[in-house]
Amino acid sequence: MTSVLERYVPIVGAEVIDHLRHLAEPLRGMKVVHVNSTREGGGVAEILSWLIPFKRELGLDARWEVISGEKDFYQCTKSFHNGLQGTPVALPSSLLRAYEQTNRDNAERLRPLLEDADFVFIHDPQPAPLLRLCPGRKGKWVWRCHIDLSHPYRAVWKYLRDVVAGYDASIWSLADFAQPLPHPLYLIAPSIDPLSQKNRELYPGEVEAVFDRYGLDPDLPLITQVSRFDRFKDPLGVLHAYRLVKEFTPVQLVLAGGGASDDPEGEEVLREVREAAGDDPDIHILLLPADAHREINGLQRASTIVLQKSTREGFGLTVTEAMWKGKPVIGGDTGGIRLQVINHHTGFLVNTPEGAALRIRYLLKNRDRLEEMGRKAQSFALNNFLVTRHLREYLTLMIATRH
Ligand code: UDP
Repeated sequence: MTSVLERYVPIVGAEVIDHLRHLAEPLRGMKVVHVNSTREGGGVAEILSWLIPFKRELGLDARWEVISGEKDFYQCTKSFHNGLQGTPVALPSSLLRAYEQTNRDNAERLRPLLEDADFVFIHDPQPAPLLRLCPGRKGKWVWRCHIDLSHPYRAVWKYLRDVVAGYDASIWSLADFAQPLPHPLYLIAPSIDPLSQKNRELYPGEVEAVFDRYGLDPDLPLITQVSRFDRFKDPLGVLHAYRLVKEFTPVQLVLAGGGASDDPEGEEVLREVREAAGDDPDIHILLLPADAHREINGLQRASTIVLQKSTREGFGLTVTEAMWKGKPVIGGDTGGIRLQVINHHTGFLVNTPEGAALRIRYLLKNRDRLEEMGRKAQSFALNNFLVTRHLREYLTLMIATRH
């Protein structure tokens, strides 16, 4: 039977896979634990769902643990998230107490595992206090920050800085995001798994079936944004851009999203989006279950152009997902989107709904250019944002940090 790793050879080549095996050699058998706060929904869960099996395949004893809490905990960490990405927020002490208590409760359960691990990777602020709560730790602890910390609201960063300063290292998606900390800082961009249900090739007919399933018109250009209903993803800006395009050209829009179990603001944003969409039959707001990976794959492939009009974005896996499928992406000129969308080559970077509308109209009118950008986008994703590159950087970091 071919190993999981062998299945990547036709995509990235045998040398890349051999290199990974070689790098993993000194780490074989090591106990590695990743901790985050949701098993599904959002980019972090998406990455952990393939990273752990991949590390196991390379001989590491890797595990994924999820912490959970009550409403006040998620309210607090959502405020952290908004504050760290620059929005002024209030952090009442009752919420901070819930944050700390939830971490204490989870530490009770996880302490033996975490203290015994050779490496612990803590993702984002939610589980960050676990470090202090595991005084008997023997391994290296790395804080993996997935969010844009370039202009944090000071009060929030001041609090969180104390929580994360004690880590042995931290990982950031972009140099611009990093804040000074008293330990080594590493840069590792996220990635997608080209063989997952979300990204693998689909069977003939599957993409066409998407039009039927969601009541879309196969003869109209399809503009899509796949995102949690979060203000930083700017769904209202997407609606605005779509309306500006529609004044000139027939087009349909899909806003596909679901919730992440650690995001309490989604319903409110969804209400605003529904209200703004009104009864336009060409706007399709699709609420998909968290495991609708193949459906999202089909929607991305069925799209003419993909949007990710975020105003802040840690990375934006949805951008690489679309690029890998040969789609030009019109993305907000912010954060990790700038790593992926090379303006005028793999897509367009925009700052306003007007800018997005202009670029959509340009691509719809210049189909050769659209196809060419899609091809460039796919090869850029292949060379930069696949699991194999991501894993290589993780292994290198572990080798550098292990002693
Ligand atoms: N996603 C999904 N269902 C949804 C919305 C998003 O499966 O309804 C996936 C999307 O395909 C991507 C991830 O969730 O893989 C979102 O990651 P991204 O980095 O774009 O944004 P985040 O949600 O982490 O801010």
